[in-house]
Amino acid sequence: MNWKCKCGNTEMKIDFGRMICSKCDAEVKMYSVDEQKVMKENNKHYYWLIQTPTFVEKLDTFYADFTEEQLIEMSRKIEKVSAKNKTQATKFKNSYIYWKYFYNPSFKRMELKFITLSTLKRLFLRNVKDIELIEVDLND
Ligand SMILES: [Zn+2]
Repeated sequence: MNWKCKCGNTEMKIDFGRMICSKCDAEVKMYSVDEQKVMKENNKHYYWLIQTPTFVEKLDTFYADFTEEQLIEMSRKIEKVSAKNKTQATKFKNSYIYWKYFYNPSFKRMELKFITLSTLKRLFLRNVKDIELIEVDLND
């Protein structure tokens, strides 16, 4: 596994079980795919919220104070208006959030995958040609 600090340094030291950058002493967090089952508001149906390592890292970089609870709430709003099998994006604070809502046949479940956050106005993802920008009211 390769470690990289936000400062660009790749040499880490371990301090009480935490990974610390040897250059700037920042804590470098481990990022892995994060998934959790989320109940819809009707309490009967559910989907799986998947956060890619990139998404987790960017959320932590841009909006460190965004809570898990806020994230789940945001996912509910997005899930309601998502088209299936299509990469979509919407404005989120000062950036854009990208996601895809689809059925995963391997796990037989609906997955709402938060792919990444970007501050760029032009929607762009590698390997995805057609990204649809939709309006979702994520405030309140
Ligand atoms: Zn560093």
